Amino acid sequence: MSAIYLPAEIDLIAVTFFIFGLAFGSFLNVCIYRLPRGMSIIPGSACPHCGAGIKPYDNVPVFGWLMLRGRCRSCRGHISPRYMLVELLIAILFAVSYLSFGLSVEAIKFCVFSFLIVGLVFTDADLKLLPDTMTLPGFALGVIFSVLTPVGGTAWLVRHGESWFSSLPFDFRWRPASLAAALLGAVVGSLFIWGIGALYKLIRGVEGMGFGDVKLMLMVGAFLGVKLTVLTLMLGSMLGSLAGVGAMLTVWSKRLKRNLKSAALRGSAGQRAWASAQLLLRRYEMPFGVFLGSMALFSAYFGDRIMNWYVGFYR
Ligand SMILES: [Zn+2]
Repeated sequence: MSAIYLPAEIDLIAVTFFIFGLAFGSFLNVCIYRLPRGMSIIPGSACPHCGAGIKPYDNVPVFGWLMLRGRCRSCRGHISPRYMLVELLIAILFAVSYLSFGLSVEAIKFCVFSFLIVGLVFTDADLKLLPDTMTLPGFALGVIFSVLTPVGGTAWLVRHGESWFSSLPFDFRWRPASLAAALLGAVVGSLFIWGIGALYKLIRGVEGMGFGDVKLMLMVGAFLGVKLTVLTLMLGSMLGSLAGVGAMLTVWSKRLKRNLKSAALRGSAGQRAWASAQLLLRRYEMPFGVFLGSMALFSAYFGDRIMNWYVGFYR
């Protein structure tokens, strides 16, 4: 219990991951702003209001924002605390990757995955956009990582495909199996979202799910394999439905209160409020990438534990 108070027990490698996370988080802020706008990510940071270059000493992650109290040095324009939040989030996720997987290729893989997902979630929340310049390189990276460290489901494929892999040296056998597991995850994830989108269009006659979501799941599937991709789809859909129902109920209760105040509308208050809520549902553009992305990140770190608990429940 006293571990926290002993400096000797501070894990220096975890601290290193954290500091690298701050730096990568700072770079990610630049990507979130510039990639969907088709801007180059090479030149240094600039103020979003006046365009003044940000001095290197003001650009220190987290501290720069705190020192200037969230204002630009030249124009005093407001700089969102979100920049700091993204830096801290990436730093924490990098440290957690190391603490979960040790000093390994797997830890690096989950650092890369966190970086991509956080970038995509914030871009989708901002602009309802999942840029190809993030998802497609992300998919390629997932495929590359699958031959460096086994994706979930690899052991199962090796066991059941013994005869296929038997000509390969024993220590090498897992690699084609892991590659297959990653590609299978990508196909399952993207096909499911594509199917939902097609079904939605058929029923409602409008585009519901963007092709960006399909490519997001292509990337998620390659990183996580089939099992955790299915978990991501389940949790993402649940979260999306909850958000939709929540938004409807908020509109319904607000309208109901307002209608009940007016004498003319009191008689039909309930009906009118319900009509407003339904109108909202029809117009509501769900940032589905936010739900899928955050649940993919959740599944990456906690998915196996949840699956084991769930399977144990029925044994
Ligand atoms: Zn400025």
